[in-house]
Amino acid sequence: MLHARRKSFFLEDLRNRREKTRVDVYMDALKKFAGKQIYDLDGGDVLDFLIFKDINDSGRTSVHYKDCPNIGAPTFEKCSDRVLCAKRHQAASMRIGIVSKLRRGFEDVGRKGVYNPRTLQGDPTRSAIVSEYLGFIRMEQGMSGVVPNQAVTMTKGKMDKFMDAMGLDIEGRRGLTRLRMRERRAMYAFCFSAIKRLAGAGHVVASNTIRIPINEGLVFNCTWDKTLRMGVHCFGILCVKETDKWCTHCIIDEWVLYARTWGISFETGLLFPRLKKEGKVDHRKQRWKSKNISDSLVRDLKRYALYQGETPQSFRHGGTVNSLETGHDLERTMYLAYMKNRTTAQNYAKGLCFLFPKFNWKKAGVDTADIDSVTLAMQMQSWKAWRNQGPPL
Ligand SMILES: [Zn+2]
Ligand SMILES: [Zn+2]
Repeated sequence: MLHARRKSFFLEDLRNRREKTRVDVYMDALKKFAGKQIYDLDGGDVLDFLIFKDINDSGRTSVHYKDCPNIGAPTFEKCSDRVLCAKRHQAASMRIGIVSKLRRGFEDVGRKGVYNPRTLQGDPTRSAIVSEYLGFIRMEQGMSGVVPNQAVTMTKGKMDKFMDAMGLDIEGRRGLTRLRMRERRAMYAFCFSAIKRLAGAGHVVASNTIRIPINEGLVFNCTWDKTLRMGVHCFGILCVKETDKWCTHCIIDEWVLYARTWGISFETGLLFPRLKKEGKVDHRKQRWKSKNISDSLVRDLKRYALYQGETPQSFRHGGTVNSLETGHDLERTMYLAYMKNRTTAQNYAKGLCFLFPKFNWKKAGVDTADIDSVTLAMQMQSWKAWRNQGPPL
């Protein structure tokens, strides 16, 4: 029975992911367009399909002919040739969108690798004529001044205003609105500091977060099992409330402390869970992803008259973080820690020194050069960010 349930869980997950990636949608459209089955499709069919997608008005980008005097205009009212000037798919999005989805579809039935037009073996999206067409639209769009869509950068100055305005706003809110706003503000701050798109924030496990002694910061993605393994995904932020206008670590704590008054626990589960109407954690809803949160981000920015086309991707170019640029060193340190249990704690502390080389560990009461490993191991256990109820250490 367990086997059957596990299998159906896997198959359902697979089906959901398929739907999301739209692999089947595009492949079905191609088969219908060409009137063929998947094994009979050739490079010419793919080319015709791409051309069809470029003229059937599904594109969103205005592309003018290179000699058109209206280059750069979003509409075509004054254009003499409405065939040469039209809405198209961006070259980049056609490549990573339609073509890569079709490629996955062909791969699924074993059609991959070099395409052979005579035997129809291999992947027809890799045929010479299709690559030529992709090169052609890239050049065409280059000449008409179409540049790839890039997310608007969330600058530090804007983030300062945003955090400030939202923080003030929250003070005047009550109940569930206040709870939700605190969570969103903490997610925005987290994403800015962690240079993660908002999608990443949805996966942070609360219990895998540790608090640096004397509440000097937070370290995320620490795995605290018997092996004390800390992978390269681990990264941290220091408290900057003394020197900066706002502090991600403090804002996250504000969220956690307030959420606890609603009975939400952070000993297990996610740091940023989805919430139900009555303010309880909704475990059935999917974790936060960019698309779930982009509407809220737009609404929040608009409320403070700060919106300029930002999307969750805008956070990618955000703040600074103590990421593991020396990841290899840390990995090695942690590996050694795993191998030789005796010095685990010492190595672990050294790992954190890699993470925060400039941090004053002495001030935090930790002598990383020479410390009794048992003492440090016990200290580190108490570093778990939200282990104990009550105020942070
Ligand atoms: Zn034109
Ligand atoms: Zn802080």
